[in-house]
Amino acid sequence: MKFAQLGLSTPITRAIAKAGLVTPTPIQVLAIPEALAGRDVLGAAETGTGKTAAFALPLLQRLSKTTPPRHPLLHRVRALIITPTRELALQIGQQFTSLGRYCGLTHATLVTPGDRLLRSIDILIATPERLLDLHQHGGVDLRAVEILVIDEADRLLDMNRLPDVQRIISQLPLDRQTMLYSATLPAAINSLADVILREPARIRIPPTQKATDAVRQSVSFVSRPQKTSLLVAWLNQHHVDRAIVFTRTKHGADRVVRQLLTCGIRAEAIHGEKTLAARQETLARFKAAHPPILVATDLAARGIDVDHVSHVLNYDLPLEPETYIHRVGRMAKAGAKGMAVTFCDDSERPLLKSIEKLLRREIPVDSATQPLDQLPRTKLAPLEPAPTPAPQRKPRPSQAAKEAAAAEVVTRKPVSRAKPVSSSHRTSSKAIEATGKTKATERSRTKTQAKAKVETRSKRNTASSKKTPVPARGAVASRRR
Ligand code: AMP
Repeated sequence: MKFAQLGLSTPITRAIAKAGLVTPTPIQVLAIPEALAGRDVLGAAETGTGKTAAFALPLLQRLSKTTPPRHPLLHRVRALIITPTRELALQIGQQFTSLGRYCGLTHATLVTPGDRLLRSIDILIATPERLLDLHQHGGVDLRAVEILVIDEADRLLDMNRLPDVQRIISQLPLDRQTMLYSATLPAAINSLADVILREPARIRIPPTQKATDAVRQSVSFVSRPQKTSLLVAWLNQHHVDRAIVFTRTKHGADRVVRQLLTCGIRAEAIHGEKTLAARQETLARFKAAHPPILVATDLAARGIDVDHVSHVLNYDLPLEPETYIHRVGRMAKAGAKGMAVTFCDDSERPLLKSIEKLLRREIPVDSATQPLDQLPRTKLAPLEPAPTPAPQRKPRPSQAAKEAAAAEVVTRKPVSRAKPVSSSHRTSSKAIEATGKTKATERSRTKTQAKAKVETRSKRNTASSKKTPVPARGAVASRRR
């Protein structure tokens, strides 16, 4: 099947070819002809299936073939795309730039507080809150909308944004085409679809069809306190190009990053508490594999469109089984081969069961992962230096080296303390002499202190190494069912 066979016009197929897309995906084959015919669409498909192009291509073609009615409206919009997150909005905007390059239509992305329209626009991509904000201030006129797309409706539901969406829809003309896409179709989404869609074409792309095809999956059973040690062990044992580690909470993501950095493994967190700019910078660095490990919450990861993600590690199991498919889907783009690894503690076994029910198969148990203390440390992919130095593991120094280092640390202090004195205008030869004497006395005192410190530190190290949670033999338990 070729894109041209779907009834797409020359400007569109040229743009598709320029974007490097050759064969339409299943959702595109099914949805594009229906949408081109003007039908409403209810699409059950997840990110990674090509659903953006499935609604963008017919939308572009239909808008470029009709002349907008002459509205004396200042900020009118002809097509509206509502999406849950700013990242998704920006990615959709990029696809419109690419696929609409020969259509002569204008589009804008509304994501940041304060964003506004300077004039009328053909296509507006927005999150519900930004759109309502602008609408309340009279910055956008929705009375001329011809096409509405609601993207990732189940995620909007999770974020309690459906009431906002309904408020937006109440401002739109009844005579319009509506396309609703959702990875899952819970009751609330079906009810919304019943209200806002007219005899839609119902298209369902089974979630397992794509995500699990090319991805090897495994599960390791581990106790909760030992998860970090197992994660470090796993990362040390495997060659990782780019890995996303999923945690359930923002704090969890930050904590895992701190722990990885302590072990000399470079990682960054991405979650909703970071600003959009910070998230985009993190994402840009991850795209360049600097660092190669991203620790993410599901919401933040929803918009991640990064090629060559080699591994997905489920540090926490998701509460909804569909979310597992979304996570694994991060690697399934363009048929890339990947590996999904799940760390399951006892309390998470029911969640694993629901995932396996959805997948309609058992995830094999990983019996190869070794406890942390038995690992060769050479298998980790060579990592280039991080922009900000991360704490590195150093070889254990000898006792003499420890003493020298400790002495050096403490002797530096009087020098830096003396600095303001010497640089001060109050400095006199007397003062310098006095400082010199003080230095000599202090140096001998500090040597004694250094020895004491080294002893205390080595005692503390022994104590803390006892506390470090290291998975014991058999921590990666076999499946007990
Ligand atoms: P989406 O499901 O819209 O998030 O798309 C995921 C990725 O698939 C994007 O990076 C698209 O560029 C890519 N994509 C969309 N359609 C196709 C296609 N027909 N062939 C290959 N890749 C595609």
